Amino acid sequence: MTGVTHMLAATAIYKVVPLGKPIVLAMAFGSHFLLDAIPHYELSTLLNYILGAITFSFLVILAFYTQNYYLLVAAFLGALPDLNWILGWNQSLGQFHSFMHVSNVLQQQSALIIAEAVFDIVLTFVILRQSKLR
Ligand SMILES: [Zn+2]
Repeated sequence: MTGVTHMLAATAIYKVVPLGKPIVLAMAFGSHFLLDAIPHYELSTLLNYILGAITFSFLVILAFYTQNYYLLVAAFLGALPDLNWILGWNQSLGQFHSFMHVSNVLQQQSALIIAEAVFDIVLTFVILRQSKLR
């Protein structure tokens, strides 16, 4: 999955689930593995970074506007397993991530790209609605 999807799903979980912060942030982190277990298409690393930077910038603006910086913590935790994969911080986490990640990433499946984009748009609306912007 893209970094966009991981960050938006984790943030949406944080915004929607009415439980304490430690539980919700753990769920935001855990959502990464559930999403990666779904067959999906991987964008190029460069495009993934660009879209991820745009998404994180949107979340920074939202966090500043709503004065709720925990949504950035949730987004970071949602993307953390991929960051760990790239930067190699923790070998055990990397091994678990690889174990949970679908083994054959699908190629040229435009339907999967569209489905993920629609999912991201829905997540964005959920986050904005839960942020009670006026
Ligand atoms: Zn991943």
